[in-house]
Amino acid sequence: MKQRTLAIIKPDSVEKQVIGDIIQRIQNAGFKILGMKYTRLTEAQAKAFYEVHKDKPFFESLVKYMTSGPVVPIALEKENAIEDFRKLIGITDPAKAEEGTIRKLYGTNIERNAIHGSDSPENGEREVAFFFALSELVWNR
Ligand code: GDP
Repeated sequence: MKQRTLAIIKPDSVEKQVIGDIIQRIQNAGFKILGMKYTRLTEAQAKAFYEVHKDKPFFESLVKYMTSGPVVPIALEKENAIEDFRKLIGITDPAKAEEGTIRKLYGTNIERNAIHGSDSPENGEREVAFFFALSELVWNR
């Protein structure tokens, strides 16, 4: 079944100037880009996006990191997008991620891990809607 996932190329990857390589890898893996932007999150946006983690010890640090520079949110679609994208990016901690994954290649540590990917089909829909209005997605054109 076709699913949607939200990618966010995180501030550390933007800083490293690897946006282009990451987008190439996403396209090579067969994902269709429905929407994309270059933006900097406000503190309120970052807190809202990571609300599920608000009680974790790393929450404040995560919000600081995610607002530290520009990010590239990308709305993606593919068969089995959630699982396939998580495979492409690797697990949360880059040190433990599989060879060839985006987090292994570009992540610095468990927090500065290069890229975000939604963890369920429901969250994929919700997170795409967090960043994109319907009129900003190309699926219906
Ligand atoms: P993800 O689904 O693989 O992104 O991981 P989570 O949803 O568990 O965590 C969200 C984000 O919080 C991760 O991508 C990291 O940027 C950060 N994070 C997760 N675990 C830790 C941790 O133990 N310490 C710190 N400092 N950051 C973390």
